[in-house]
Parts: sequence; C-alpha cells; structure tokens
Amino acid sequence: MSKKNQSKADAYSFFSCIEKNFDKAARHLSIKKGLLEQIKSCNAVYRMHFPVKIGKEIQVIEAYRVQHSHHKLPCKGGIRYSIKVNQDEVMTLAALMTYKCAIVDVPFGGAKGGIKIDPQIVSAENIEKITRRYTSELIKKNFIGPGIDVPAPDYGTGEREMSWIFDTFLSLSPGEVDALACVTGKPVSQGGVRGRKEATGLGVFYGIRELCKMKEEMLSVGLDVGLNGKKVIIQGLGNVGYHAATFFHEAGAIIVALAEREGAIYNKKGLNVSNVILHLKKTGSILNFPESKNIEDTEKALELECDILIPAALENVIHKHNANRIKAKIIGEAANGPVTPEADDILGKKGVLIVPDIYLNAGGVTVSYFEWLKNLSHVRYGRMEKRFSENMNTELLQVIETSCRKKIPIEEKKMILRGPREIDLVRSGLEDTMINGFHKIRDLKKSLKIENLRTAAFVLSINKIIDSYEKLGIFP
Ligand code: NAD
Repeated sequence: MSKKNQSKADAYSFFSCIEKNFDKAARHLSIKKGLLEQIKSCNAVYRMHFPVKIGKEIQVIEAYRVQHSHHKLPCKGGIRYSIKVNQDEVMTLAALMTYKCAIVDVPFGGAKGGIKIDPQIVSAENIEKITRRYTSELIKKNFIGPGIDVPAPDYGTGEREMSWIFDTFLSLSPGEVDALACVTGKPVSQGGVRGRKEATGLGVFYGIRELCKMKEEMLSVGLDVGLNGKKVIIQGLGNVGYHAATFFHEAGAIIVALAEREGAIYNKKGLNVSNVILHLKKTGSILNFPESKNIEDTEKALELECDILIPAALENVIHKHNANRIKAKIIGEAANGPVTPEADDILGKKGVLIVPDIYLNAGGVTVSYFEWLKNLSHVRYGRMEKRFSENMNTELLQVIETSCRKKIPIEEKKMILRGPREIDLVRSGLEDTMINGFHKIRDLKKSLKIENLRTAAFVLSINKIIDSYEKLGIFP
C-alpha cells in the first residue's frame, strides 16, 4: 500500500465501518435498540504488554485478545501477526467472527487476537518465544481453553504458530483431556483436521461458484453462467489467496493478475498459479514471472479489466478514492473488510455484485469447527464408517452386476466402492455449508427486498443471534 493510501486506511475506524453495515441491516428489522447495542458491542477486550528477550535486548510486545460475543461459547477467531495490529482492528475482526459464525451455523461467539510484530522481520526463534509468552498470558487471564476461547490462524500466522500455542497450553494444563481443542488450524500430525489449511480459499471458491450459477445475477452484470473462462484477479497470495487462486484455476477460470506486496503480475491469457508459486519460492518475488507484465504499483492491479476480483490480503483496500476505477463485475471478499462503506455505496451504484466477507471467508471457521469437534470426540472423521460403507457398496455393486449381467469397469468400480475419508467428509461439509449459506442470504435478499448481499447477510446473522439470546432467556 502506498504511504498516501496507507494513511487514508489508518485514519479509518474499521469498527465504525462494520457498525455502519450492521445499522443498515437493523433498519430491515424491528429489534429493540438496547438489544442491537448489546449485539454490536465487544464483551471483553484484553490488551496486554509483555517483555521478551530478543538478542541482548528486552522488547515490550503489544498484543490483544478480544471476545466480541459470549452469546455462544467458546469464542472463536484467528490470531493476526502484523505491525499494523491495533485495538480497533482486533475488535472489528472479532465482531466479524460473531456475524460470520451465525451465518454458517457454527455455534461460537466471535473473537480475535493480534500481536503487533512484523513476522517477515522477526526470526522464527523469536516468533516462537512471543507466541508461547502470548499463550501463557491468555492462560493467566482465562482467555483460552476448549470451552472458553479457541484461537486459529489469520494473517501472518499458520500451522506452526498454532502448534506452539497448543504445546504451551498443554504443558500449563496438565491432565486436560481436551487440550487439543484449545486451538484449531494445527498440523494434522498434532490433532489438526485434513482440509483446514485450504478451507478458507476453498470456501471462497464454492461461494463464488454458486453465485456464478445464478442466471439472474449473471444477467444483471452481463456475464454468462458458470466459472469457466471468467477472468479473475487475486490480491494476496498467502493462505487464503493462494488456495482460492488454485481452485479457480482448476475450475477453468483465467487468473489474469496476481498482486503481492512488492507488485503485481499480469497476463491477459492467464497465469499458471503453481508455476507462479515455484517462481516466488525461487526468486523471493512474484515479479518477473515469464510471459507476464510487471505492475509496480500493486494497488493498480485492483483496477485492471476482469470479471471477478478477489481481495485476499488486508482490509480497506477498496476505498472511495479507487472504487470508481474498479472494473470487476463481481468482488469476492476473501479478506476481512476489504471494501469500505463509501466504496460499497459507489460500487453498488455501478451494479457491482459484492459477496461479503461475513459469508464468503467463513470456510476457515467452518472447518475449524470440524477440527474442534474432532478433538473433543478424540476420533478421526471416517474411522467408524469408511470400512462399513466400502462393504455395503461392494455388496450393492455385486447385486447390480448380477442383475444386469454386466461387469462395471474396474476404475469406475474403485470410485464407487471407496468409503469416505476425513478429507472427503470435511470438504463435503464445507461445500454444503457454503452453498446453503449463499442461498439463505440470497432468499432473504429477495423476500425482504434488501438492497444487496452484504445487508442481507447481516440481517440473517442478526436474526440468528437474536434467536440464541431468546433461547438463553436473556431477552425474553
Ligand atoms: P497470509 O498472511 O497467509 O497472507 C496474506 C498475503 O497478503 C501475504 O502473502 C502478504 O504478502 C500479502 N499482502 C500483504 N499486503 C499486501 C498488499 N498491499 N498487496 C498485495 N498483497 C499483500 O494471510 P491469510 O491467512 O491468507 O489472510 C488474508 C486475509 O484473509 C486476511 O484479511 C484475513 O483476516 C482473512 N481471513 C483469513 C482466514 C484464514 O483461515 N487464514 C480466514 C478468514 C479470513
């Protein structure tokens, strides 16, 4: 982000952006003001400073954990490592988690954590020290635990950090039989679930694929139905962006541009995502990728000609100063809060379809929920039913072959016989969640004549949160 745009984004209260979106949705509902205030406000904000010895110096680290809502427990949300981390940002991301979980029927309250460090500069050894100390601070204040608050990866963190958190929690909670469920996004070898790493990107893909199946919506933006041949731009090639890019590419979409911190690359005929990653690993940058054009000002990549734009890096990247220059017909919010409310209005007037973050990037928390359930049940998905399904399928096929007097080709047979593995069940659960979520939002938008998908998503979410408050008897 250029310095000028950086300060524009910094000056913004991210939390007030989300409140604006919430308030727009509340106008479609008749809910008491006090109750709306309760849903909006953060239940607990823990700001901490702790010392860590880095080299010969003591460095004081600023960090946060925010629990936005206790209407369902545990709270759930990722931990972000970035030099831009601040209280407003963590509060907003925690609030988004509450709304997101409600939309996809994941029974958690929203939370988020953040540590103000630059993981690109700090050594792995020091990141480990900081992560472990942060975890022990959370334990001290009862801000982590399988039934209290369960962190996960976010910007700047991944499996490595989650396994340090788990190890620290385990060593400070002897005898805690459910300790594995204190954090999700762990490596599979340490209680993680297959399919978590790519879950957010895959969820983004499922959500956009579903939208592209809708004749009415595609007609409204002058596009054909289906993903095949659609031109896609992706900003941020991290966990979410990389996997989303791979799934779009595999489905026949044309990735015309990819944007990273150092710049962007463009090829109107399409970029091969796995080759770009190989190039990135070899050279340390996506720039100078063969047969592509470099774009030095990375933000300009957002303004290139395309059908679908996927911001998958950070918040506030599409704002009132560049919204008018955006040419995409569909924006899929893979990142949290990439479009400011002003930009949202401008793009809405231009007829751009925006698929909102509180639905579109919910794949991560959905599969985190599956991981948490796996950890609590102490059994791998598919262990009970895989062999049983295979035996049943074998018998069924034998009956079919005998009654039809025809042999099924061996390759087809293998496909049909196979019982479900953990990855199959996780992906099927994720696909079902994303498709159902999309239709619930779309149906609500139509039935209540709501102006756009974001407002409809907030309406759906608020209704679900109210339901759970009523079930708890808190607001009879
Ligand atoms: P990540 O750290 O794995 O990747 C982020 C990528 O964005 C990095 O490659 C980074 O170099 C790049 N980037 C940073 N600034 C950029 C810029 N100005 N232009 C282009 N690229 C830039 O993070 P992630 O986990 O992929 O998260 C990305 C976004 O998705 C965040 O908004 C996060 O909150 C959201 N999200 C993540 C998850 C998850 O499961 N990881 C779930 C839901 C939402």
